[in-house]
Amino acid sequence: MFHSLVFQDSLIPGKVIKTREYTFTKKEKAIFDVEVIKKYPVGVLAELKHGKKTIKDVVGIASRFARLKDLKDIHDFANTYGLLGVKEMPAAFGEPPVYGITWFEPLEIWTYHIHVVRHLLAVFTALYKRAKGGDSEIEGRLIETREEDKFIPYKGYWRDDKVITVSWPGGHFPVIEFLPPHVPEEEEAVLAFLANIISVNLEGGIFLGIGQIKKALTKTGFEVLERRTTPYLLAAIYYDLWRLITENKKMIFCAYRNCRLPIEKSGRSKYCNAACRQAEYRERKKGS
Ligand SMILES: [Zn+2]
Repeated sequence: MFHSLVFQDSLIPGKVIKTREYTFTKKEKAIFDVEVIKKYPVGVLAELKHGKKTIKDVVGIASRFARLKDLKDIHDFANTYGLLGVKEMPAAFGEPPVYGITWFEPLEIWTYHIHVVRHLLAVFTALYKRAKGGDSEIEGRLIETREEDKFIPYKGYWRDDKVITVSWPGGHFPVIEFLPPHVPEEEEAVLAFLANIISVNLEGGIFLGIGQIKKALTKTGFEVLERRTTPYLLAAIYYDLWRLITENKKMIFCAYRNCRLPIEKSGRSKYCNAACRQAEYRERKKGS
């Protein structure tokens, strides 16, 4: 069952700055460590002059995040939703994010997570497309599955056996292993890949608390309702991916030939937005 997520706090909008050309205000100089910020050529800085914003709805935020293509897109997104709440790059590819309240985030943190979220959405959309009978290449292009000889525990002993490892394309960073005798079907391997990466990226980002205790037809006569909260935007983004896979949401690739980004299907729309729809229309006119 899927539980929705609540933001603990309101968010401060962010803006993209080129740190070495940007003129820091007096207030910014007083609050931020400008010398540290300048170590990174580009990043997202908290906007001090705006009031805090409350975000009510984060449904669909993962697709919106995955669609960020340039600095202007990132600027607009940060201005609407705030900073990601990630202090530094993960120690290694695939490691959990270092969550925390931030005032400045180097661009590389943003591009890294845009890349990961976009990839996960593409894997999920390809899986959905194939389940519907469309041909969709997953193995090799989106994930990599390999059989490896490993020394593994077996009934209190250890022995060499064949382990099926699912990793990112290129074989780096193994995400999950299936121990014998279990040989997963490809769909199962793909879903395990997705669920594992999402849960790693939620580590330390989501908090579980008590929402409400209400009367119910249970043995005690009451029921405890849980409440999941986060102060971090990035956790909300990964949690939105979690919603897509746990609720089996319909996903499609944008129909604009030069875009093809994964989007959640809603109504009859086949495009990310009006810009993609118009661009495809123009391409078609050119071709005819
Ligand atoms: Zn598009």
